[in-house]
Amino acid sequence: MNILLVEDNPTQSKLTSTILQRRGFEVDSAETLAEALKKLAHPIFDAILLDLSLPDSEGMETFKRVHAITDIPVIVLSAQDDKDLALQAVRQGAQDYLIKGMLSTDSLIRCLQYSVERNRVENELRRGQERLRIIMDNSYDAFLSMNSEWEITGWNAQAQQTFGWTDKEAIGQSLNLIFPTHLKKQSLGSIEQQFLNNSTRNARTTRELLAIHKDGHDFPVEIGFFRIDDEPKPSYCAFLRDITKRIEYQEELENLVQERTKSLTQKNEELRQFAKIASHDLQEPLKAVQGFVQLLEETANGNFDKDQKEFLGFIQDGTMRMQQLIKSVLIHSQIGNNGSENYTTDCNLVVEEVMADLAVSIKDTNTQFEVDWLPHINVEHSQMLQLFENLASNAIKYRSSKVPLIHFSAEESGDMWLFSVRDNGIGIDPEYKEKIFDMFSRLHGKTKYPGTGMGLAICKRIVTSHGGNIWVESKLGEGCIFLFTLPAVSAKTNAGAEK
Ligand code: ADP
Repeated sequence: MNILLVEDNPTQSKLTSTILQRRGFEVDSAETLAEALKKLAHPIFDAILLDLSLPDSEGMETFKRVHAITDIPVIVLSAQDDKDLALQAVRQGAQDYLIKGMLSTDSLIRCLQYSVERNRVENELRRGQERLRIIMDNSYDAFLSMNSEWEITGWNAQAQQTFGWTDKEAIGQSLNLIFPTHLKKQSLGSIEQQFLNNSTRNARTTRELLAIHKDGHDFPVEIGFFRIDDEPKPSYCAFLRDITKRIEYQEELENLVQERTKSLTQKNEELRQFAKIASHDLQEPLKAVQGFVQLLEETANGNFDKDQKEFLGFIQDGTMRMQQLIKSVLIHSQIGNNGSENYTTDCNLVVEEVMADLAVSIKDTNTQFEVDWLPHINVEHSQMLQLFENLASNAIKYRSSKVPLIHFSAEESGDMWLFSVRDNGIGIDPEYKEKIFDMFSRLHGKTKYPGTGMGLAICKRIVTSHGGNIWVESKLGEGCIFLFTLPAVSAKTNAGAEK
Protein backbone atom coordinates (compact mmCIF):
# COMPACT_ATOMS: atom_id res chain seq x y z
CA MET A 1 0.00 0.00 0.00
CA ASN A 2 1.31 3.46 -0.93
CA ILE A 3 0.85 6.21 1.61
CA LEU A 4 1.36 9.97 1.24
CA LEU A 5 2.28 11.39 4.63
CA VAL A 6 1.71 15.15 4.81
CA GLU A 7 3.34 16.37 8.02
CA ASP A 8 5.51 19.45 8.65
CA ASN A 9 6.95 18.18 11.93
CA PRO A 10 10.08 16.22 10.92
CA THR A 11 10.20 14.12 14.11
CA GLN A 12 6.54 13.16 13.85
CA SER A 13 6.98 12.47 10.14
CA LYS A 14 9.99 10.29 10.71
CA LEU A 15 8.28 8.33 13.46
CA THR A 16 5.13 7.64 11.47
CA SER A 17 6.92 6.67 8.29
CA THR A 18 9.24 4.32 10.18
CA ILE A 19 6.24 2.55 11.72
CA LEU A 20 4.59 2.19 8.36
CA GLN A 21 7.66 1.09 6.48
CA ARG A 22 8.31 -1.58 9.06
CA ARG A 23 4.90 -2.98 8.33
CA GLY A 24 5.56 -3.10 4.60
CA PHE A 25 3.98 0.21 3.49
CA GLU A 26 5.53 2.45 0.86
CA VAL A 27 5.66 5.96 2.26
CA ASP A 28 6.27 9.27 0.51
CA SER A 29 6.16 12.45 2.54
CA ALA A 30 5.41 16.13 2.00
CA GLU A 31 5.93 19.03 4.41
CA THR A 32 3.74 21.63 2.79
CA LEU A 33 0.36 21.67 1.09
CA ALA A 34 1.92 22.79 -2.18
CA GLU A 35 4.30 19.83 -2.09
CA ALA A 36 1.44 17.44 -1.24
CA LEU A 37 -0.74 18.70 -4.09
CA LYS A 38 2.14 18.29 -6.50
CA LYS A 39 2.70 14.71 -5.41
CA LEU A 40 -0.98 13.95 -5.63
CA ALA A 41 -0.84 14.78 -9.32
CA HIS A 42 0.54 11.23 -9.70
CA PRO A 43 -2.24 8.80 -8.86
CA ILE A 44 -0.08 6.29 -7.05
CA PHE A 45 -1.31 6.63 -3.49
CA ASP A 46 -3.81 4.44 -1.71
CA ALA A 47 -4.31 6.78 1.27
CA ILE A 48 -3.21 10.15 2.64
CA LEU A 49 -2.27 10.87 6.23
CA LEU A 50 -2.87 14.60 6.48
CA ASP A 51 -1.83 17.06 9.16
CA LEU A 52 -4.18 20.05 8.86
CA SER A 53 -1.68 22.62 10.19
CA LEU A 54 0.95 23.16 7.52
CA PRO A 55 3.21 26.12 6.91
CA ASP A 56 1.29 27.16 3.80
CA SER A 57 -2.27 26.14 4.85
CA GLU A 58 -4.25 25.92 8.03
CA GLY A 59 -7.26 23.94 9.33
CA MET A 60 -10.22 22.91 7.14
CA GLU A 61 -8.77 24.75 4.19
CA THR A 62 -5.97 22.15 4.07
CA PHE A 63 -8.44 19.30 3.99
CA LYS A 64 -10.71 20.96 1.40
CA ARG A 65 -7.84 21.61 -1.00
CA VAL A 66 -6.68 18.02 -0.84
CA HIS A 67 -10.16 16.51 -0.97
CA ALA A 68 -11.05 18.65 -3.98
CA ILE A 69 -8.45 17.07 -6.22
CA THR A 70 -8.59 13.42 -5.22
CA ASP A 71 -10.94 10.68 -4.09
CA ILE A 72 -8.12 8.85 -2.29
CA PRO A 73 -9.12 8.29 1.37
CA VAL A 74 -7.83 11.03 3.69
CA ILE A 75 -7.04 10.31 7.35
CA VAL A 76 -6.61 13.50 9.30
CA LEU A 77 -3.73 13.69 11.78
CA SER A 78 -4.96 15.84 14.58
CA ALA A 79 -3.47 17.26 17.76
CA GLN A 80 -5.21 16.27 20.97
CA ASP A 81 -6.76 19.73 21.32
CA ASP A 82 -7.87 19.86 17.65
CA LYS A 83 -10.30 16.97 17.76
CA ASP A 84 -13.28 19.16 16.79
CA LEU A 85 -11.54 20.24 13.64
CA ALA A 86 -10.76 16.62 12.81
CA LEU A 87 -14.37 15.66 13.31
CA GLN A 88 -15.47 18.49 11.05
CA ALA A 89 -13.15 17.12 8.34
CA VAL A 90 -14.68 13.66 8.79
CA ARG A 91 -18.16 15.15 8.32
CA GLN A 92 -16.98 16.72 5.08
CA GLY A 93 -15.50 13.55 3.63
CA ALA A 94 -12.36 12.52 5.48
CA GLN A 95 -12.37 8.81 6.18
CA ASP A 96 -11.09 9.01 9.76
CA TYR A 97 -8.78 10.88 12.11
CA LEU A 98 -5.89 9.91 14.37
CA ILE A 99 -4.61 11.80 17.37
CA LYS A 100 -0.93 12.51 17.06
CA GLY A 101 1.19 11.27 19.92
CA MET A 102 -1.33 8.57 20.72
CA LEU A 103 -0.61 6.46 17.70
CA SER A 104 -0.14 2.78 18.32
CA THR A 105 1.17 0.78 15.41
CA ASP A 106 -1.88 -1.43 15.35
CA SER A 107 -4.39 1.40 15.43
CA LEU A 108 -2.56 3.21 12.64
CA ILE A 109 -2.50 0.14 10.41
CA ARG A 110 -6.10 -0.80 11.17
CA CYS A 111 -7.24 2.76 10.52
CA LEU A 112 -5.44 2.84 7.17
CA GLN A 113 -6.77 -0.51 6.00
CA TYR A 114 -10.29 0.26 7.16
CA SER A 115 -10.26 3.69 5.50
CA VAL A 116 -9.03 2.35 2.19
CA GLU A 117 -11.71 -0.35 2.18
CA ARG A 118 -14.50 2.01 3.26
CA ASN A 119 -13.43 4.52 0.64
CA ARG A 120 -13.56 1.82 -2.05
CA VAL A 121 -17.11 0.83 -1.05
CA GLU A 122 -18.21 4.47 -0.91
CA ASN A 123 -16.71 5.18 -4.32
CA GLU A 124 -18.53 2.17 -5.81
CA LEU A 125 -21.77 3.33 -4.26
CA ARG A 126 -21.23 6.83 -5.59
CA ARG A 127 -20.48 5.49 -9.05
CA GLY A 128 -23.63 3.30 -8.89
CA GLN A 129 -25.72 6.31 -7.93
CA GLU A 130 -24.15 8.36 -10.67
CA ARG A 131 -24.90 5.60 -13.21
CA LEU A 132 -28.49 5.47 -11.97
CA ARG A 133 -28.80 9.24 -12.30
CA ILE A 134 -27.46 9.10 -15.88
CA ILE A 135 -29.93 6.32 -16.74
CA MET A 136 -32.83 8.24 -15.22
CA ASP A 137 -31.88 11.49 -16.90
CA ASN A 138 -31.62 9.80 -20.27
CA SER A 139 -34.83 7.82 -19.92
CA TYR A 140 -37.55 8.52 -22.49
CA ASP A 141 -40.02 8.22 -19.63
CA ALA A 142 -40.45 10.81 -16.95
CA PHE A 143 -39.39 9.40 -13.60
CA LEU A 144 -40.58 10.63 -10.23
CA SER A 145 -39.91 9.32 -6.77
CA MET A 146 -42.09 10.16 -3.79
CA ASN A 147 -41.99 9.70 -0.04
CA SER A 148 -44.73 8.03 1.99
CA GLU A 149 -46.69 11.32 2.00
CA TRP A 150 -46.64 11.42 -1.82
CA GLU A 151 -44.27 14.38 -1.82
CA ILE A 152 -41.92 14.45 -4.77
CA THR A 153 -38.35 13.53 -3.84
CA GLY A 154 -36.89 12.85 -7.29
CA TRP A 155 -37.60 14.32 -10.73
CA ASN A 156 -35.58 13.43 -13.81
CA ALA A 157 -34.79 15.51 -16.90
CA GLN A 158 -37.68 13.97 -18.87
CA ALA A 159 -40.11 14.85 -16.04
CA GLN A 160 -38.91 18.42 -16.32
CA GLN A 161 -39.54 18.36 -20.06
CA THR A 162 -42.95 16.65 -19.73
CA PHE A 163 -44.36 18.92 -17.00
CA GLY A 164 -42.32 22.11 -17.40
CA TRP A 165 -41.32 22.27 -13.71
CA THR A 166 -37.58 22.15 -12.88
CA ASP A 167 -36.47 19.59 -10.32
CA LYS A 168 -35.94 22.39 -7.79
CA GLU A 169 -39.54 23.56 -8.29
CA ALA A 170 -41.01 20.08 -8.16
CA ILE A 171 -39.07 18.46 -5.33
CA GLY A 172 -40.89 18.84 -2.02
CA GLN A 173 -44.28 19.42 -3.72
CA SER A 174 -47.17 16.98 -3.49
CA LEU A 175 -47.74 14.65 -6.45
CA ASN A 176 -50.91 16.72 -6.97
CA LEU A 177 -48.62 19.14 -8.79
CA ILE A 178 -49.03 17.05 -11.93
CA PHE A 179 -52.82 16.52 -11.78
CA PRO A 180 -55.48 19.04 -12.87
CA THR A 181 -57.18 20.59 -9.83
CA HIS A 182 -60.60 19.05 -10.49
CA LEU A 183 -59.07 15.57 -10.90
CA LYS A 184 -56.74 15.62 -7.92
CA LYS A 185 -59.07 13.68 -5.72
CA GLN A 186 -59.82 10.94 -8.20
CA SER A 187 -56.22 10.71 -9.45
CA LEU A 188 -54.06 10.67 -6.34
CA GLY A 189 -56.96 9.47 -4.18
CA SER A 190 -57.58 6.38 -6.24
CA ILE A 191 -53.88 5.55 -6.55
CA GLU A 192 -53.43 5.82 -2.79
CA GLN A 193 -56.49 3.64 -2.28
CA GLN A 194 -55.21 1.02 -4.66
CA PHE A 195 -51.91 0.76 -2.76
CA LEU A 196 -53.72 0.67 0.58
CA ASN A 197 -55.72 -2.32 -0.66
CA ASN A 198 -52.68 -4.08 -2.05
CA SER A 199 -50.46 -5.79 0.49
CA THR A 200 -48.21 -7.44 -2.12
CA ARG A 201 -44.58 -6.56 -1.49
CA ASN A 202 -43.42 -3.69 -3.73
CA ALA A 203 -46.91 -3.53 -5.28
CA ARG A 204 -47.37 -1.84 -8.64
CA THR A 205 -50.19 -0.38 -10.67
CA THR A 206 -50.50 1.13 -14.13
CA ARG A 207 -53.15 3.53 -15.33
CA GLU A 208 -53.97 6.19 -17.87
CA LEU A 209 -54.72 9.60 -16.37
CA LEU A 210 -54.99 13.23 -17.31
CA ALA A 211 -51.93 15.26 -16.21
CA ILE A 212 -51.29 18.99 -16.27
CA HIS A 213 -48.29 20.98 -17.53
CA LYS A 214 -46.87 24.01 -15.74
CA ASP A 215 -48.35 26.21 -18.49
CA GLY A 216 -51.85 24.90 -17.67
CA HIS A 217 -52.56 22.58 -20.62
CA ASP A 218 -53.58 19.07 -19.78
CA PHE A 219 -52.62 15.88 -21.60
CA PRO A 220 -53.08 12.12 -21.21
CA VAL A 221 -50.32 10.10 -19.58
CA GLU A 222 -49.69 6.46 -18.88
CA ILE A 223 -48.25 6.03 -15.39
CA GLY A 224 -46.72 2.93 -13.86
CA PHE A 225 -46.49 3.36 -10.07
CA PHE A 226 -44.70 1.07 -7.69
CA ARG A 227 -44.28 1.07 -3.96
CA ILE A 228 -40.91 0.40 -2.33
CA ASP A 229 -41.70 -1.27 0.97
CA ASP A 230 -38.96 0.41 3.00
CA GLU A 231 -38.91 0.56 6.80
CA PRO A 232 -40.30 2.40 8.64
CA LYS A 233 -42.39 3.90 5.81
CA PRO A 234 -42.85 3.00 2.18
CA SER A 235 -41.89 5.28 -0.69
CA TYR A 236 -43.25 5.40 -4.24
CA CYS A 237 -41.84 5.72 -7.73
CA ALA A 238 -43.50 6.33 -11.06
CA PHE A 239 -42.52 6.03 -14.69
CA LEU A 240 -44.74 8.17 -16.81
CA ARG A 241 -45.20 8.80 -20.52
CA ASP A 242 -47.14 11.42 -22.46
CA ILE A 243 -49.53 9.41 -24.66
CA THR A 244 -51.16 12.31 -26.54
CA LYS A 245 -49.75 11.07 -29.86
CA ARG A 246 -50.74 7.46 -29.20
CA ILE A 247 -54.30 8.46 -28.39
CA GLU A 248 -54.45 10.65 -31.48
CA TYR A 249 -53.27 7.71 -33.62
CA GLN A 250 -55.76 5.41 -31.92
CA GLU A 251 -58.60 7.83 -32.57
CA GLU A 252 -57.49 8.30 -36.16
CA LEU A 253 -57.35 4.54 -36.61
CA GLU A 254 -60.76 4.05 -35.02
CA ASN A 255 -62.27 6.74 -37.24
CA LEU A 256 -60.68 5.12 -40.26
CA VAL A 257 -62.02 1.69 -39.31
CA GLN A 258 -65.45 3.15 -38.67
CA GLU A 259 -65.46 4.94 -42.01
CA ARG A 260 -64.30 1.81 -43.83
CA THR A 261 -66.89 -0.33 -42.05
CA LYS A 262 -69.59 2.20 -42.91
CA SER A 263 -68.62 2.28 -46.54
CA LEU A 264 -68.33 -1.52 -46.70
CA THR A 265 -71.72 -1.97 -45.04
CA GLN A 266 -73.17 0.50 -47.50
CA LYS A 267 -71.58 -1.31 -50.46
CA ASN A 268 -72.75 -4.64 -49.12
CA GLU A 269 -76.27 -3.35 -48.75
CA GLU A 270 -76.17 -1.93 -52.28
CA LEU A 271 -75.00 -5.32 -53.59
CA ARG A 272 -77.77 -7.10 -51.69
CA GLN A 273 -80.33 -4.75 -53.09
CA PHE A 274 -78.87 -5.17 -56.56
CA ALA A 275 -78.98 -8.97 -56.34
CA LYS A 276 -82.51 -8.85 -54.98
CA ILE A 277 -83.81 -6.54 -57.69
CA ALA A 278 -81.87 -8.29 -60.45
CA SER A 279 -83.18 -11.70 -59.45
CA HIS A 280 -86.75 -10.40 -59.21
CA ASP A 281 -86.43 -8.76 -62.63
CA LEU A 282 -84.89 -11.91 -64.11
CA GLN A 283 -87.82 -13.97 -62.87
CA GLU A 284 -90.31 -11.90 -64.85
CA PRO A 285 -89.13 -12.80 -68.40
CA LEU A 286 -88.63 -16.36 -67.21
CA LYS A 287 -92.21 -16.62 -66.06
CA ALA A 288 -93.29 -15.16 -69.41
CA VAL A 289 -91.28 -17.86 -71.27
CA GLN A 290 -92.82 -20.57 -69.09
CA GLY A 291 -96.31 -19.09 -69.66
CA PHE A 292 -95.91 -19.01 -73.45
CA VAL A 293 -94.52 -22.55 -73.57
CA GLN A 294 -97.62 -23.67 -71.68
CA LEU A 295 -99.83 -21.65 -74.08
CA LEU A 296 -98.02 -23.17 -77.05
CA GLU A 297 -98.67 -26.68 -75.70
CA GLU A 298 -102.33 -25.89 -75.13
CA THR A 299 -102.90 -24.30 -78.56
CA ALA A 300 -101.02 -27.03 -80.39
CA ASN A 301 -103.33 -29.47 -78.75
CA GLY A 302 -100.82 -32.31 -78.80
CA ASN A 303 -99.92 -31.80 -82.47
CA PHE A 304 -96.18 -31.57 -81.90
CA ASP A 305 -93.90 -34.09 -83.51
CA LYS A 306 -91.24 -35.96 -81.47
CA ASP A 307 -88.46 -33.39 -82.06
CA GLN A 308 -90.70 -30.43 -81.26
CA LYS A 309 -91.76 -32.12 -77.97
CA GLU A 310 -88.10 -32.69 -77.12
CA PHE A 311 -87.24 -29.03 -77.84
CA LEU A 312 -90.11 -27.88 -75.64
CA GLY A 313 -88.82 -30.19 -72.91
CA PHE A 314 -85.40 -28.52 -73.16
CA ILE A 315 -87.00 -25.07 -72.88
CA GLN A 316 -88.91 -26.17 -69.77
CA ASP A 317 -85.82 -27.75 -68.17
CA GLY A 318 -83.78 -24.65 -68.97
CA THR A 319 -86.30 -22.26 -67.47
CA MET A 320 -86.70 -24.41 -64.37
CA ARG A 321 -82.95 -24.53 -63.86
CA MET A 322 -82.71 -20.79 -64.43
CA GLN A 323 -85.41 -20.33 -61.79
CA GLN A 324 -83.45 -22.46 -59.29
CA LEU A 325 -80.28 -20.51 -60.02
CA ILE A 326 -82.01 -17.18 -59.47
CA LYS A 327 -83.55 -18.46 -56.24
CA SER A 328 -80.12 -19.59 -54.99
CA VAL A 329 -78.51 -16.27 -55.90
CA LEU A 330 -81.28 -14.49 -54.04
CA ILE A 331 -80.81 -16.70 -50.97
CA HIS A 332 -77.03 -16.16 -51.13
CA SER A 333 -77.42 -12.39 -51.33
CA GLN A 334 -79.76 -12.27 -48.35
CA ILE A 335 -77.49 -14.17 -45.95
CA GLY A 336 -75.79 -12.12 -43.30
CA ASN A 337 -75.20 -11.85 -39.62
CA ASN A 338 -78.49 -10.11 -38.93
CA GLY A 339 -77.95 -9.46 -35.23
CA SER A 340 -77.43 -13.18 -34.75
CA GLU A 341 -76.77 -12.79 -31.01
CA ASN A 342 -80.53 -12.29 -30.63
CA TYR A 343 -81.22 -15.80 -31.92
CA THR A 344 -80.60 -19.01 -30.05
CA THR A 345 -81.11 -22.04 -32.22
CA ASP A 346 -81.13 -25.59 -30.93
CA CYS A 347 -79.18 -27.53 -33.57
CA ASN A 348 -80.71 -30.86 -32.45
CA LEU A 349 -84.15 -29.59 -33.48
CA VAL A 350 -82.74 -28.28 -36.76
CA VAL A 351 -81.45 -31.76 -37.67
CA GLU A 352 -84.91 -33.25 -36.92
CA GLU A 353 -86.45 -30.66 -39.23
CA VAL A 354 -83.90 -31.50 -41.96
CA MET A 355 -84.89 -35.18 -41.71
CA ALA A 356 -88.56 -34.25 -42.02
CA ASP A 357 -87.90 -32.00 -45.06
CA LEU A 358 -85.84 -34.67 -46.82
CA ALA A 359 -88.14 -37.52 -45.75
CA VAL A 360 -88.93 -38.62 -49.30
CA SER A 361 -85.34 -38.90 -50.52
CA ILE A 362 -84.26 -40.41 -47.19
CA LYS A 363 -86.89 -43.10 -47.64
CA ASP A 364 -86.07 -43.66 -51.33
CA THR A 365 -82.38 -44.06 -50.64
CA ASN A 366 -82.76 -45.73 -47.23
CA THR A 367 -80.39 -43.11 -45.77
CA GLN A 368 -79.34 -43.69 -42.14
CA PHE A 369 -78.52 -40.91 -39.65
CA GLU A 370 -76.27 -40.82 -36.62
CA VAL A 371 -76.75 -37.63 -34.64
CA ASP A 372 -74.64 -36.79 -31.58
CA TRP A 373 -75.66 -34.12 -29.10
CA LEU A 374 -75.50 -30.71 -30.78
CA PRO A 375 -75.26 -27.29 -29.09
CA HIS A 376 -77.47 -24.21 -29.12
CA ILE A 377 -76.00 -21.56 -31.33
CA ASN A 378 -76.50 -17.82 -32.01
CA VAL A 379 -77.48 -18.20 -35.65
CA GLU A 380 -80.91 -17.61 -37.14
CA HIS A 381 -82.88 -20.86 -37.23
CA SER A 382 -83.56 -20.58 -40.99
CA GLN A 383 -79.84 -20.24 -41.74
CA MET A 384 -78.88 -23.27 -39.63
CA LEU A 385 -81.63 -25.21 -41.42
CA GLN A 386 -80.28 -24.14 -44.81
CA LEU A 387 -76.74 -25.08 -43.78
CA PHE A 388 -77.56 -28.56 -42.47
CA GLU A 389 -80.07 -29.24 -45.25
CA ASN A 390 -77.60 -28.36 -48.03
CA LEU A 391 -74.96 -30.65 -46.50
CA ALA A 392 -77.40 -33.51 -45.84
CA SER A 393 -79.00 -33.34 -49.28
CA ASN A 394 -75.53 -33.32 -50.90
CA ALA A 395 -74.58 -36.36 -48.80
CA ILE A 396 -77.65 -38.17 -50.20
CA LYS A 397 -77.18 -36.84 -53.74
CA TYR A 398 -73.49 -37.78 -53.92
CA ARG A 399 -73.99 -41.22 -52.33
CA SER A 400 -71.98 -44.25 -53.40
CA SER A 401 -73.26 -47.77 -53.84
CA LYS A 402 -73.26 -48.18 -50.04
CA VAL A 403 -76.35 -47.45 -47.94
CA PRO A 404 -75.95 -43.70 -47.25
CA LEU A 405 -74.94 -42.91 -43.67
CA ILE A 406 -74.81 -39.32 -42.40
CA HIS A 407 -73.22 -38.48 -39.07
CA PHE A 408 -73.72 -35.09 -37.35
CA SER A 409 -71.53 -34.13 -34.41
CA ALA A 410 -70.03 -31.10 -32.67
CA GLU A 411 -67.31 -30.44 -30.15
CA GLU A 412 -66.29 -27.29 -28.32
CA SER A 413 -62.95 -25.87 -29.43
CA GLY A 414 -61.93 -22.71 -27.55
CA ASP A 415 -64.63 -20.12 -28.05
CA MET A 416 -66.00 -21.90 -31.13
CA TRP A 417 -68.02 -25.04 -31.81
CA LEU A 418 -66.54 -27.37 -34.40
CA PHE A 419 -69.35 -29.12 -36.28
CA SER A 420 -68.85 -32.06 -38.58
CA VAL A 421 -71.15 -33.66 -41.13
CA ARG A 422 -69.71 -36.96 -42.35
CA ASP A 423 -71.00 -39.13 -45.19
CA ASN A 424 -69.91 -42.36 -46.87
CA GLY A 425 -70.54 -41.16 -50.42
CA ILE A 426 -68.40 -40.79 -53.56
CA GLY A 427 -65.98 -38.34 -51.92
CA ILE A 428 -64.15 -35.40 -53.49
CA ASP A 429 -60.76 -35.21 -55.13
CA PRO A 430 -58.69 -33.11 -52.63
CA GLU A 431 -57.64 -30.95 -55.59
CA TYR A 432 -61.13 -29.40 -55.60
CA LYS A 433 -61.61 -29.06 -51.86
CA GLU A 434 -61.57 -25.26 -51.98
CA LYS A 435 -63.12 -24.70 -55.39
CA ILE A 436 -66.37 -26.47 -54.43
CA PHE A 437 -67.26 -23.61 -52.08
CA ASP A 438 -67.24 -21.07 -54.95
CA MET A 439 -70.52 -19.90 -56.51
CA PHE A 440 -71.77 -22.06 -59.43
CA SER A 441 -68.89 -24.45 -58.93
CA ARG A 442 -69.80 -28.07 -59.83
CA LEU A 443 -67.66 -31.14 -60.31
CA HIS A 444 -70.25 -33.19 -62.21
CA GLY A 445 -72.52 -32.82 -65.21
CA LYS A 446 -76.12 -31.88 -64.45
CA THR A 447 -77.49 -35.06 -66.02
CA LYS A 448 -75.92 -37.37 -63.48
CA TYR A 449 -76.22 -35.06 -60.47
CA PRO A 450 -78.68 -32.17 -60.87
CA GLY A 451 -77.82 -28.96 -59.04
CA THR A 452 -76.91 -25.30 -59.31
CA GLY A 453 -73.44 -25.26 -57.75
CA MET A 454 -74.73 -22.77 -55.17
CA GLY A 455 -75.36 -25.09 -52.19
CA LEU A 456 -71.87 -25.02 -50.66
CA ALA A 457 -71.39 -21.32 -51.55
CA ILE A 458 -74.50 -20.63 -49.45
CA CYS A 459 -73.11 -22.80 -46.62
CA LYS A 460 -69.84 -20.88 -46.73
CA ARG A 461 -71.62 -17.53 -46.63
CA ILE A 462 -73.67 -18.58 -43.60
CA VAL A 463 -70.61 -19.79 -41.70
CA THR A 464 -68.23 -16.94 -42.57
CA SER A 465 -70.81 -14.22 -41.92
CA HIS A 466 -70.90 -15.54 -38.33
CA GLY A 467 -67.12 -15.47 -37.97
CA GLY A 468 -66.56 -19.18 -38.67
CA ASN A 469 -64.74 -21.28 -41.27
CA ILE A 470 -65.84 -24.19 -43.40
CA TRP A 471 -63.72 -26.82 -45.13
CA VAL A 472 -63.88 -30.42 -46.31
CA GLU A 473 -61.71 -33.45 -45.66
CA SER A 474 -62.12 -36.11 -48.32
CA LYS A 475 -60.61 -38.45 -50.86
CA LEU A 476 -62.31 -39.78 -53.97
CA GLY A 477 -64.36 -42.84 -53.08
CA GLU A 478 -63.93 -42.41 -49.33
CA GLY A 479 -66.82 -40.14 -48.36
CA CYS A 480 -66.55 -36.60 -47.06
CA ILE A 481 -66.35 -34.84 -43.74
CA PHE A 482 -67.61 -31.27 -43.95
CA LEU A 483 -66.27 -29.32 -40.97
CA PHE A 484 -67.26 -25.84 -39.90
CA THR A 485 -66.86 -23.60 -36.89
CA LEU A 486 -69.40 -21.24 -35.36
CA PRO A 487 -68.91 -19.07 -32.30
CA ALA A 488 -69.99 -20.73 -29.06
CA VAL A 489 -72.81 -19.16 -27.11
CA SER A 490 -72.50 -18.72 -23.36
CA ALA A 491 -72.43 -21.89 -21.25
CA LYS A 492 -75.70 -20.65 -19.69
CA THR A 493 -77.54 -20.90 -22.99
CA ASN A 494 -76.31 -24.42 -23.58
CA ALA A 495 -76.95 -25.49 -19.99
CA GLY A 496 -80.57 -26.27 -20.86
CA ALA A 497 -79.53 -28.88 -23.39
CA GLU A 498 -78.72 -32.40 -22.14
CA LYS A 499 -75.39 -33.75 -23.30
P1 ADP B 1 -74.49 -28.71 -56.28
O1 ADP B 1 -74.70 -29.86 -55.38
O2 ADP B 1 -75.73 -27.98 -56.55
O3 ADP B 1 -73.70 -29.04 -57.48
P2 ADP B 1 -72.89 -27.59 -54.21
O4 ADP B 1 -72.37 -26.23 -54.08
O5 ADP B 1 -73.78 -28.10 -53.15
O6 ADP B 1 -73.59 -27.63 -55.58
O7 ADP B 1 -71.68 -28.56 -54.37
C1 ADP B 1 -70.61 -28.23 -55.22
C2 ADP B 1 -69.95 -29.50 -55.70
O8 ADP B 1 -69.27 -30.14 -54.63
C3 ADP B 1 -70.92 -30.52 -56.19
O9 ADP B 1 -71.19 -30.31 -57.55
C4 ADP B 1 -70.19 -31.83 -55.94
O10 ADP B 1 -69.34 -32.11 -57.01
C5 ADP B 1 -69.35 -31.55 -54.74
N1 ADP B 1 -69.97 -32.07 -53.50
C6 ADP B 1 -70.70 -31.37 -52.62
N2 ADP B 1 -71.06 -32.14 -51.58
C7 ADP B 1 -70.54 -33.36 -51.82
C8 ADP B 1 -70.55 -34.60 -51.12
N3 ADP B 1 -71.17 -34.75 -49.95
N4 ADP B 1 -69.91 -35.64 -51.67
C9 ADP B 1 -69.25 -35.51 -52.84
N5 ADP B 1 -69.21 -34.38 -53.55
C10 ADP B 1 -69.83 -33.30 -53.04
